Amino acid sequence: MNVSEIFGSMAFNDVVMRERLPKTTYRQLKRAISENQPLPIEVANVVANAMKDWAIEKGATHFTHWFQPMTGITAEKHDSFISPTPEGGVIMEFSGKELIKGEPDASSFPSGGLRSTFEARGYTSWDPTSYAFIKDGTLCIPTAFCSYTGEALDKKTPLLRSMSAINSQAKRILKLFGASDDIEVTTTVGPEQEYFLIDKEDYDKRKDLIFTGRTLFGAKPPKGQELEDHYFGTIKPRVVAYMKELDEELWKLGILAKTKHNEVAPAQHELAPIYTTTNIATDHNQLTMEVMKKVAKKHGLVCLLHEKPFAGINGSGKHNNWSISASDGVNLLNPGKSPEDNAQFLLFLAAIIKGVDEYQDLLRISVASPGNDHRLGANEAPPAIVSIFLGDELTEILDSVEKGYKIDKRKRSIMRIGVDFMPPFAKDNTDRNRTSPFAFTGNKFEFRMLGSAFSIAATNTILNTIFAEELSRFADELENAMDFNATLSEIIKRTIREHKRIIFNGNGYDEAWVKEAEKRGLLNLKSTADALPHILDEKNVRLFEKFNVYSAGEIKSRYEILIENYSKVINIEANTMLNMAKKEIFPAVSAYTKELMDAATAKKALKIANAPEEKLAALLSEKAENIYEATKALEEVTEKAHSVADEQKRAEYYHEVVIPAMEALRTVADEAETMTAEKYWPFPTYSKILFSV
Ligand code: ADP
Ligand code: MG
Repeated sequence: MNVSEIFGSMAFNDVVMRERLPKTTYRQLKRAISENQPLPIEVANVVANAMKDWAIEKGATHFTHWFQPMTGITAEKHDSFISPTPEGGVIMEFSGKELIKGEPDASSFPSGGLRSTFEARGYTSWDPTSYAFIKDGTLCIPTAFCSYTGEALDKKTPLLRSMSAINSQAKRILKLFGASDDIEVTTTVGPEQEYFLIDKEDYDKRKDLIFTGRTLFGAKPPKGQELEDHYFGTIKPRVVAYMKELDEELWKLGILAKTKHNEVAPAQHELAPIYTTTNIATDHNQLTMEVMKKVAKKHGLVCLLHEKPFAGINGSGKHNNWSISASDGVNLLNPGKSPEDNAQFLLFLAAIIKGVDEYQDLLRISVASPGNDHRLGANEAPPAIVSIFLGDELTEILDSVEKGYKIDKRKRSIMRIGVDFMPPFAKDNTDRNRTSPFAFTGNKFEFRMLGSAFSIAATNTILNTIFAEELSRFADELENAMDFNATLSEIIKRTIREHKRIIFNGNGYDEAWVKEAEKRGLLNLKSTADALPHILDEKNVRLFEKFNVYSAGEIKSRYEILIENYSKVINIEANTMLNMAKKEIFPAVSAYTKELMDAATAKKALKIANAPEEKLAALLSEKAENIYEATKALEEVTEKAHSVADEQKRAEYYHEVVIPAMEALRTVADEAETMTAEKYWPFPTYSKILFSV
């Protein structure tokens, strides 16, 4: 296979556009994209036609507007290219109008009350900054999805707005440092994706995996991850074959799949792409997750993207590597070599420190989900407390800037912004802490709180927006400064002084950090139910409105969708547990108990004294009773949850009452599992699932 030949073969990317579009059309399209202007319909017609011809050559028969509604996954509705001719035949057509705008019936997508059902129409509009691609014989056109009155009903629209916000604000700063007028700024992202691969036969036997994506029962296997022999271990042949096909499928779509390896937990793996602009990275990550699942099926496997498929075993996350770069190719989070570079870098760094401190709640909310609640703070993922890791050297540099002391004995000078060289620091030194939620890794930040199943859109929307906000404040001050260098220096010093509490280089898994963070006044929003309402805090609404990222109505609707989703997910999990406990687990325990009793009776008839079967049956009978009671208790509270009218209160009830009842049922069922003969256990155990691929 020739990788460079298949790479992007299914994407209508820049290479294809250059090749297939008339020069003027190509230039008009590029200009419309860079100036964020709508494309004239005549031009759109030409682009649409070229896209269609290309797609048909690749075997496509249909097209779809591909969008990202609030379900967290992607949506598509396929239309064929056919158009009838008077002679009774068909020709293949695709117009500029069809490319630019679609009007799917939107009534069944979550809107959080934004769109009343009598106005069920929504529309999708083409996002020309992300390449169209062919998937399963369909030309997919990346689109944004809005209500008929223009409110965002998707994840792409706010992300695009946030990218535009950061571009405008970062440009103001760069111009103050002498950048040319036509500079553009964009954020870049490389999301590392973790996942589990299990056998499809095992999956099919477990209702919990089928309905909830995670196991709700399961005793610890004799061997877990304690030997740490899976991490970076030799990849098994079946998994190798899977990864190979996955890479190829992703490459065809123009996705820069780069690194693959085994992760810490048994059956856990990771894929990392090469970074690209945030918008494309987001689309590509959605596609990656979809392709991961699809390719797995072909190999008799199932790819689990849930944050915590197995209790007691590491869950899966997604590391969002994020940076900012200018159109001249310069990474703005690279400390650089000259004093001017250093000053600019320190200003950007200050903006991040301030932004993360002031909007800890938003970053926490962007990773809030019932699945991720199992990970954050569970000593396998960062705590629910947001903090920044900078490494000792960079922290010392900031300290010297703040206090004005000398850092380099040989140079015998204090760090003066814009004048002195920053002492070089080792990049390696910045990447050792794996416990930090937000770590500086040399020339980018790695946000590690995301769960594996998440769309990365919300996190990056928030990162971009809070960063735009801080840059705009700095720009306001600097643009009016009498003495640029003095003001710059003052801003950086002040920011470090006021916001250094957010910097923490120690072990984020340590209990002591929780106490220390509390002393520092940092937020610790432990659960999704705790975190979500903060999105409605006045400061947050103001922030989003200032940059037109979300309107107040859009924020409210998102909160409602998320809080309702939380309760729904837990409710499905509770119902699945009840079903499995009643229909599978209890009958299994009971059947085995009967076998034991029969054996004991037989022994008695033969006058064999002290049948251990009888003792075991008594113990199991006790477990069965516990299961019965715990099932009843869970049933009662699940029923009660439905009667809590207020959405927020209901979510809290699920968190505080239903989840503990689920845990109680699981505990007794898992105990029974360890005592029940294997042939009676109704579904594959952890040992079987985790070690069979
Ligand atoms: P690490 O070893 O620290 O995880 P890597 O160099 O392996 O770092 O990169 C991890 C991820 O970060 C990759 O997906 C990579 O493409 C991405 N990345 C690297 N540089 C940047 C950048 N400037 N912006 C965004 N992501 C980046
Ligand atoms: Mg990494």
